[in-house]
Amino acid sequence: MEEKEDKAGQAQCGSECPEKEESAAAKRSNELTWTFKDCSARLDAGQTEEAGKFAEGYKIFLDRAKTEREFAEVALEECQKAGYHLFEPGQELRPGDRVFHLNRNKAVIMTTVGREPLEKGLRITVSHVDSPRLDLKPMPVTEKSGIAYLKTHYYGGIKKYQWVTVPLALHGVTARNGQENIRICIGEKEDEPVFCISDLLPHLASDQMDRKLREAIKGEELTAVAASTPFDPESKEKDLVKLRFLDIMNRKYGITEKDFLTSELSLVPAGHARDVGADGALVGSYGQDDRICAYAALRAELGCTAPAHTTVTVFADKEEIGSCGNTGMNSDFLLHHIQDLCRTMKADERTVLRNSWALSADVGAAFDPVFPSVFDEQNSCHLGKGCVLTKYTGARGKSGSNDASAETLAFITGILDEANVPWQIGEIGAVDAGGGGTVALFIAGMDVNTVDLGVPILSMHSPFELSSKADLYSLYLGLSAFLK
Ligand code: MN
Ligand code: MN
Repeated sequence: MEEKEDKAGQAQCGSECPEKEESAAAKRSNELTWTFKDCSARLDAGQTEEAGKFAEGYKIFLDRAKTEREFAEVALEECQKAGYHLFEPGQELRPGDRVFHLNRNKAVIMTTVGREPLEKGLRITVSHVDSPRLDLKPMPVTEKSGIAYLKTHYYGGIKKYQWVTVPLALHGVTARNGQENIRICIGEKEDEPVFCISDLLPHLASDQMDRKLREAIKGEELTAVAASTPFDPESKEKDLVKLRFLDIMNRKYGITEKDFLTSELSLVPAGHARDVGADGALVGSYGQDDRICAYAALRAELGCTAPAHTTVTVFADKEEIGSCGNTGMNSDFLLHHIQDLCRTMKADERTVLRNSWALSADVGAAFDPVFPSVFDEQNSCHLGKGCVLTKYTGARGKSGSNDASAETLAFITGILDEANVPWQIGEIGAVDAGGGGTVALFIAGMDVNTVDLGVPILSMHSPFELSSKADLYSLYLGLSAFLK
């Protein structure tokens, strides 16, 4: 169990102060009230050091896996190193066997077979590996007044004004004949150019400054500078700057304008994850929602070589736009994986689902002291107080939420407490201040006990989100205890 804040013991006097007897109220308060302590008071020195090392690996991972496809590549590499095999339904599976399923290069499921029969239930974790970003439109390249631009359509919930005047990198693939995939990445190496969306200088922005913040930058104004010199200045052809951009893309990747029609290309913040704050206790990076939970889940799954219960560690796509599509959690791809496992191991599917436990591993909105009014401080999660258990998300009276049961919360907190994992609670903000959702309801919809467990994030959905290394490590410890 967690220790309580010893309020009475922390009296306002120094060592010369005579020992006072604890007042009745202080004693009773100590017995009855509850406060979550910081991780710094709950992790020992060795664990704090481990948390720092863990974050080093995390930062490298963040730089390598900025899109769901890049995550899938990293995950498959790890699967190969750790002896996972591509799951073929019907193949013989024994305790300790490890298999993976790759869903269309964008979502991944990893499974380690447990000692217990499947009917005793699975241990499922689901994180998502897509993040808000600026997707290129199907016909993105245009030219205006001697500048070539890339037109975008934003993906997920963003504050549009945050995405101008920051360096952006182009990531994605072009598919040809449904076969060949050409990987595209420009702007991540130090010697490569980046892309950038311009904003109006303050001198001429008085009309723009009167716009509502929601419209400060409009969707159609999110167009990124792609090139600014003509292909051939002497030529009489039209759109020579656009041609210059297409020529560069053709030389580099062999593609033409038509190939953009069969591409998935995104602009994401260029650059690396960094430590934040003089103490380096935080990580600042693009895409921590939800790759922070994905990294913790990946490491926990890899480390869990002989579980009691069979693990199902899912990395999903499309969460940021409602989990739709056949790589999102609103599709049946997880159900089908579980059905395949059940058939392969001759287990009753409904019994397996009913007895399973799931953690929806997604980030929480950390209390922001600069904007306290949209939070209920005592029901918010806080940076540095551990992984965050969220009973319900949703908006307007918990609508669209999983709303986990008391029994589910007790089961998970029991596991966390037994393993001495720093955890806290959180809700997405003050009542009616807004809201949000996770994939929890889709997992619960399969008749599985489900609750959200994640990490608090400051500046969520911005180009540079902040998280605490101690919280990340706490989630890793928590997921490891859950899978054990
Ligand atoms: Mn998320
Ligand atoms: Mn999100």
